[in-house]
Amino acid sequence: MRKPFVGGNWKMNTNFETARQLAISGAKSLHDHALDASVDVAVFPPFVYLLPVRDVIAASGASIKLGAQDAHFEPQGALTGEISIPMLRDCGVQVVLTGHSERRHILGETDEMVNAKTRAVLASGLECILCIGETLAQRQAGQTDAVNERQVRAGLANVEKDHLTAARLTIAYEPVWAIGTGNTASPADAQSAHARIRALIDSMYGPQAARAVRIQYGGSCNAANAAQLMSQPDVDGALVGGASLKAGEFVEIVRAAANPRA
Ligand code: PEP
Repeated sequence: MRKPFVGGNWKMNTNFETARQLAISGAKSLHDHALDASVDVAVFPPFVYLLPVRDVIAASGASIKLGAQDAHFEPQGALTGEISIPMLRDCGVQVVLTGHSERRHILGETDEMVNAKTRAVLASGLECILCIGETLAQRQAGQTDAVNERQVRAGLANVEKDHLTAARLTIAYEPVWAIGTGNTASPADAQSAHARIRALIDSMYGPQAARAVRIQYGGSCNAANAAQLMSQPDVDGALVGGASLKAGEFVEIVRAAANPRA
């Protein structure tokens, strides 16, 4: 049985105080309802708020992983403005996103960069969520499965099986046309994409890795649609953007992941 995994990607939102308040109310509510026990939960604040959010989580007693939205693959050097994986570890980060569509499509990250980051995160001992997904044009051209396959194969090039069997690598299927638009994939479409991705992992790494790897859905997931999405057999949680900025809504999504058929 795969444990559901829900992440809240705050993107370039919040300020020092609202980041703290969001973490305080979310952690309290998750912990009070013991949802942090049945679901793996992570939050991805902006880099500059990692430390205050880390301290809020520690004080709350809740089991919430601290996540980073990106990392450079080099451990140090002349890379102005970049943040390294050792720096993130130093700040208590446990899980890192790679290949988010906003980094691919707005900031120009290539499959090769996503792969270098994914390998560096996993080699460091941290967990990684590799984000993949097709654009609207690719979907309309019937290329959803081909794009997902290309991004999984490229993102995981030279990634060892152990990272998958140990569930330290999670895949987030996030159709680009669904991110921040209010246009969620239907539960059936999400299930179909997730099942294809799992079959691909089976063909690349074998059945044990395919059974272990968690595949999150991302793209306008909210408190109203989460239960149906989470009830799909190959949907193992969610990566949540906009709805993670409201503690109550995020907690409801975690609740849906904990009780998928409720
Ligand atoms: C995301 O950016 O990972 C995401 C899923 O965003 P939203 O939930 O706002 O669509």
